[in-house]
Amino acid sequence: MIRDRVRELLSELPPGVTLVGAAKTRTPEEIFEAIDAGLEIVGENYVQEAERAYHLIGNRVRWHMIGHLQTNKTKKAAMVFDMVETVGSVKLALELDKVCGNMKKIMPILIEINSGEEEQKSGVMPENATFLIDQIRHLRHIRVMGLMTMGPFEGNPEDSRRYFKKTREIFDGIKAMDLPDVEMRYLSMGMSNSYKVALEEGANLIRIGTKLFGERT
Ligand SMILES: *Cc1c(COP(=O)(O)O)cnc(C)c1O
Repeated sequence: MIRDRVRELLSELPPGVTLVGAAKTRTPEEIFEAIDAGLEIVGENYVQEAERAYHLIGNRVRWHMIGHLQTNKTKKAAMVFDMVETVGSVKLALELDKVCGNMKKIMPILIEINSGEEEQKSGVMPENATFLIDQIRHLRHIRVMGLMTMGPFEGNPEDSRRYFKKTREIFDGIKAMDLPDVEMRYLSMGMSNSYKVALEEGANLIRIGTKLFGERT
């Protein structure tokens, strides 16, 4: 039961750690069940899927964009999401700032780090993270609140550790700079198979799908 798995995971999380239920492909009924059991944040990968779920579920939970956001979807994204965890370029940041400005809203964002430095993956390369933040932190309708990473592996969770560690080091480094208008508060790392390692490496937002909702078909 989704309900039992949500309760169990919530009860085992250390204080200060927040669960994001990664809801891609799940029905609104399944998402409702998770919310009923105490889930407070729903993570969505696709704007259209998020809109549909949001239309039915609304603001009783918070909504995080955890998938790649295309610049032509920012307006819809700005209407649904309470945080965009996947900002990896100046272009996307500018576009989000513009649409949020039109809506008189300030969007909290995380910078997605391409911690595996894989060409085909989204997110900013680790060595460019500080520069990206420096270029966008003055924008008035987005607010940098931390970092997010996926890491390259699906297999052995220990293989993810070095990527989580690297992201944590970037997080600490930027935090220590104490940049104006930047709040290094959230470190979003870890999925069903890797969240324990991520917690050991300092994650305080974990994004869990399979472990709550079961295998995706
Ligand atoms: C699907 C997804 C997750 C959750 O993955 P599971 O292995 O199902 O827990 C976390 N983060 C992102 C960005 C995802 O797309």
